[in-house]
Amino acid sequence: MSSDAVILDPRSGMQALIDALDTAGYRVLGPVLRDGVIVYDDVVSESAMPTGVRVEQGAGRWRVFQDARPERFSWTPGADSWKRFVFPARSEVLRIRRTDGSWTTGQPAAPDRPLALLGARDCEVRALGVLDTVMLGPNHPDARYAQRRADAFVVAVTCGEPSSTCWCTSMGGGPQPHDGFDLRITELSDHAGHRLLVQPGSDRGEQIMAVLPGSDAHNADIDSAAHVVQRSVDRLPVRLPGAELPALLAGSELHPHWDDVAARCLSCSNCTMVCPTCFCSSFSDHTSLDNDEAFRTQEWASCFQLDHSYLGGRPVRATTAQRYRQWLTHKLQTWTAQMGTTGCVGCGRCTTWCPAGIDIIEEARAVIGSQMVAARLQPVDVYVHPR
Ligand code: SF4
Ligand code: SF4
Repeated sequence: MSSDAVILDPRSGMQALIDALDTAGYRVLGPVLRDGVIVYDDVVSESAMPTGVRVEQGAGRWRVFQDARPERFSWTPGADSWKRFVFPARSEVLRIRRTDGSWTTGQPAAPDRPLALLGARDCEVRALGVLDTVMLGPNHPDARYAQRRADAFVVAVTCGEPSSTCWCTSMGGGPQPHDGFDLRITELSDHAGHRLLVQPGSDRGEQIMAVLPGSDAHNADIDSAAHVVQRSVDRLPVRLPGAELPALLAGSELHPHWDDVAARCLSCSNCTMVCPTCFCSSFSDHTSLDNDEAFRTQEWASCFQLDHSYLGGRPVRATTAQRYRQWLTHKLQTWTAQMGTTGCVGCGRCTTWCPAGIDIIEEARAVIGSQMVAARLQPVDVYVHPR
């Protein structure tokens, strides 16, 4: 018997978890199926969360299937990511109002409740860690990001059914979260029935777990969870040598393959908009028609936008080939030297949501040389939490 892991009913237990987080003062966010895609939104009832939903993903392809099976987490994430809640696509940062000859300034109020993210996959947990490194770094910490991110409670989920565009293990993660969460759920469905194994990752997690109506997990449950992890690992071939990419991509600035990609790339920015670690933004100022009010907004920007690199009267990266090269090599090569962490967690969103079906893995392989990639591929040491 494992005293620090509990078994929850997938429906009543999930509701108890939502209620416990709400009672503890969190704004509970979780997955919902809306307009044919999985998005994250406020959840007050477990019935709003997907049940029996599966997805098929490929380059430029996303399809949802609903069946009668009871699984809660048999899908993989869609275009939406938790980034939207800690770093909104558009937000007001300052408002100035003229009143009787003087000015008053105001900033948006801080969130009234910390977030609880229910159902974060390992790639998503790691993406939040990458964003934290960028946004909370000592040189230029983003106070608004810090407010939204503060005290966020993460309920992570082990991936039991990775999609064909997932490659987290190539980037040193997945399919089971091992860090950065407060609670971790592994969905089990075997001869002993359908159930959720819940394990704590922090003191806060243990406090929430203590009020859940679960039964103690047995060793057989832990073994079953290890089987889920191994099954996913077997479905996730290592597709790029993640740790070696900075060295392998070095010196590729003038590689002719960038022109090949540019012939297909629409420079639409989709890949950067769906990426859970892309952080570029721009600021713009606006005034009201009566000129009594002015406000400044921050919006997501993209290295695929022509004006993003506009310097000294011209764009530094004028061609699509230069912009795609900048994006891929920043993600897989130069981010590491700049931030001390990779810029890619292998979630596959950029491939799935590219309207041209451009696959970051295939393009990286073409630049590096697929023979070199194949020679360097080694099975990754996937961490399995000992509990
Ligand atoms: S790679 Fe795809 S998603 Fe990204 S800018 Fe080009 S066409 Fe758009
Ligand atoms: S670059 Fe692509 S695979 Fe990597 S984290 Fe961003 S969206 Fe995911």
